[in-house]
Amino acid sequence: MQELNIVSKEIENNLDSPRISIDTREDNYFGKVYIESYGCQMNFADSEVVTSILIDKGYGTTSNINEADTILLNTCAIRDNAEQKIRHRLQTFKAIKTKNPKVVIGILGCMAERLKTQLIEEEKLVDLVAGPDAYRDLPNLLDQIENGQKAINVFLSKEETYGNIEPVRLHTNGVSAFVSIMRGCDNMCSFCVVPFTRGRERSRDLNSILNECIQLFEKGYREINLLGQNVDSYRWTNPDTNETITFDLLLIAVAKINSDLRVRFSTSHPKDITDDVLYAMAKYSNICKNIHLPAQSGSNRILTLMNRTYSREWYMERINSIRNILGEECGISHDVIAGFCSETEEDHQQTLQLLNDVVYDFGYMFTYSERPGTPAAKKYKDDVPDDVKSRRLQEIIDLQRKHSGIRNEQMIGTIQRVLVEGNSKKSDLHHFGKTDNNKVVVFKKKEENKGDYVEVKIVACTTGTLLGELV
Ligand code: SAM
Ligand code: SF4
Repeated sequence: MQELNIVSKEIENNLDSPRISIDTREDNYFGKVYIESYGCQMNFADSEVVTSILIDKGYGTTSNINEADTILLNTCAIRDNAEQKIRHRLQTFKAIKTKNPKVVIGILGCMAERLKTQLIEEEKLVDLVAGPDAYRDLPNLLDQIENGQKAINVFLSKEETYGNIEPVRLHTNGVSAFVSIMRGCDNMCSFCVVPFTRGRERSRDLNSILNECIQLFEKGYREINLLGQNVDSYRWTNPDTNETITFDLLLIAVAKINSDLRVRFSTSHPKDITDDVLYAMAKYSNICKNIHLPAQSGSNRILTLMNRTYSREWYMERINSIRNILGEECGISHDVIAGFCSETEEDHQQTLQLLNDVVYDFGYMFTYSERPGTPAAKKYKDDVPDDVKSRRLQEIIDLQRKHSGIRNEQMIGTIQRVLVEGNSKKSDLHHFGKTDNNKVVVFKKKEENKGDYVEVKIVACTTGTLLGELV
């Protein structure tokens, strides 16, 4: 990884917020690049790969948009409002472009892949469009612009994993880092644009994943978040030994790097998560007891229309296995979509009932947003009125909030091992960190430093945070 002279960085924990690039003070012959990232953690990890590729070719980076020669937006296309947010942001660049017409404006990521040349035609400001598999080509694309052309590369690859590129960490507190283990998705959930924007599923070489994790540990990182759209289908065959590594084996290999390195992962798919993964989690104390298991709906009829390929009964059986093998304290979170095509009040009640049956720790909840070109957009009518979608979403959010409170209250009186991540947002006298089951804990500082493990007694909570005392 390049050693950078970092003069500032800004980290936002809200996934919907842009995250801003770092500053390098090196000679930057090709000028300075500013990157904003939107959407999922994969996108934030990709921006770190993009930064590495550009720095390697002699670009500098900046966190000040006004001093940038190239402005890149790494975009999300998962819902219409994500795209609208980016279009709105683009408009604010008009003034920058008017002041300095030489500034290059580029769109990367899923929205680039989905809209292709349309973005250059519609958004007159845009000079460059690059899809998620085209980042190695960015220096060439920027050269083309230098020669007065617009530049586009939206080819999707069956092999690209960026495995040999060491990401330049932009979105980090120095304790916790994202590591991509695979790209793309083969699942074809009917509502989802990801298979079209990120292409076929491919797994990254185990050795390059382990090397990245070892280097992170040596640099002082104490938590690795392994990322993929469907981590349970990780599968890599060693060309030398013909041995096939599945996700449980990968988890164990990362956990064995050092028992002080915590391992988390996201996202698990209910049809694929195996008991082998759960037993690996149970065996290694540094594999964190937290599983993000998107449900999407509690109605079997809707799950079939969504092509999720599991039933509510199958999903509940997986929840029961998680709790049997890992215990009641294991954190479980979900994604749910309200108002999918033809969803009735009865279907919606079944989703609320699923939440009641599981009592999740946390959830990401959305209203259905039709994405052009997806199977659902082709086959079904987006017929639930917006006000009904919003009302159902609110009912789901309210119930989840109640459950988050219940789950947090169950932790009161327990002693938790907490990895210290930094100062609490509200007070410099307090540190914050996370429990093994992924809950944020705030506690009064003593001697401990960022990156240390401490024992904390949980004494109170809100629906979002635990309050503790060092023991
Ligand atoms: N791969 C993960 C999975 O299978 O659960 C999640 C990927 S997606 C980036 C994150 C979440 O966005 C999904 O779980 C789903 O709840 C939501 N989502 C995807 N497409 C959507 C759409 N068209 N409208 C609303 N929410 C959507
Ligand atoms: Fe989209 Fe389904 Fe793949 Fe998740 S598993 S990325 S929801 S297609």
